[in-house]
Amino acid sequence: MRRGKLNKRRLGLYLHIPFCKSKCAYCDFYSFVPGDDGICERYVDALIKHMETYKKSCSDYAPDTVFIGGGTPTALPIDLLVELIRAVKRSFSLTKGVEFTVEANPATVGLKEMKKLRRAGVNRLSMGLQSADNYELATLSRLHRRQDFEEAFMNARRAKIDNINVDVMYGVPGQTVASVMKTLSYVTKLGPEHISFYNLKIEPGTPFWNMRDRLELPGEDAEYEMYMRGIALLASRGYRQYEISNFAKPGYQCMHNIKYWNCDEYLGLGAAAHSFFNGNRFSFCRDAERYMRALENPDADIRITDSTEQITTKERVGEYVMLRMRLTDGISEREFFRLFGKDFEAMYGVRLARYIAGGYVEKNGDRWSFTPRGMFVSNYILSEILDFSDVGLYDPMS
Ligand code: SF4
Repeated sequence: MRRGKLNKRRLGLYLHIPFCKSKCAYCDFYSFVPGDDGICERYVDALIKHMETYKKSCSDYAPDTVFIGGGTPTALPIDLLVELIRAVKRSFSLTKGVEFTVEANPATVGLKEMKKLRRAGVNRLSMGLQSADNYELATLSRLHRRQDFEEAFMNARRAKIDNINVDVMYGVPGQTVASVMKTLSYVTKLGPEHISFYNLKIEPGTPFWNMRDRLELPGEDAEYEMYMRGIALLASRGYRQYEISNFAKPGYQCMHNIKYWNCDEYLGLGAAAHSFFNGNRFSFCRDAERYMRALENPDADIRITDSTEQITTKERVGEYVMLRMRLTDGISEREFFRLFGKDFEAMYGVRLARYIAGGYVEKNGDRWSFTPRGMFVSNYILSEILDFSDVGLYDPMS
């Protein structure tokens, strides 16, 4: 018997587009500059085929969030991206009010493209500004300048996209507290519904990593000030912090990303995409060519999963603590007991309580959470209270 959409399980769907117009010096996401050898078309075909193979196992699911990320999805020719969006709608039984996000690089989208995305069903755009200072943008080797971003933002509004996220970065080489405040002030005046305000990490394998000794990084004290003053400015302009790096106007939290932090189910398709689906964590290979060949030749024995892992309860508990503590709502002892039948206070609370006096952790009723100050050093505190061998594969946001 067919189950109506209302009875279906909810799911977050993620599609990874591994293409960019150029590579930024700090980026360790799986992406590259495509040639004009038809690779974009081949990749989208492979993704569509891949979605088809999940039709049956997803028949009991109604995705309520879709996120096309990368890379730069808008580096695809717009009609190809629209074809992909239509295929998503054909392959899955999306909920009526689905949150449908596409990541966009301001240098790659004009009004015409925005309108096509909106007509195809995209209702949320995530734009990577990073900084409103053109010198900092050049340092990051971003393709766009502030003016390009502003034009793209206005075009998104003209195209009637009324839910926009803007990414802003702090800790950029050469950046000062004053310049971060200027960027945040500029962005809040434009009034996006959501702002991701996050710390630049120098990751191995990136050009920044190779020149890390020569980078004039602001240093931890300045970064702490950037973070704390940034939070205060955002709060004063109506953006409530709900996660370490995420701020939203009321009702505009990113429902897709919240699934990761809530340990809800999500299916990620495409090269390098991660999933937590049907009790398993798995990821597809970080190799677009292999990914495409496997889907073009289903009878050939080409392996596209890089890792598959059945999650043990012990790992689930560890991941839950690691991910839920990222949220300002933190963890409720009652909820923890309902999910795992375990006493949070005894398992973690005793160790977390050591950070209350310093103003890093707070407990309200049965709920444990980090203060903004604690958020800044949350990795350190979590490494003190968690046994990382208990935590499964990865941080899903990486
Ligand atoms: S545009 Fe985004 S995904 Fe592409 S290289 Fe730059 S930061 Fe990475």
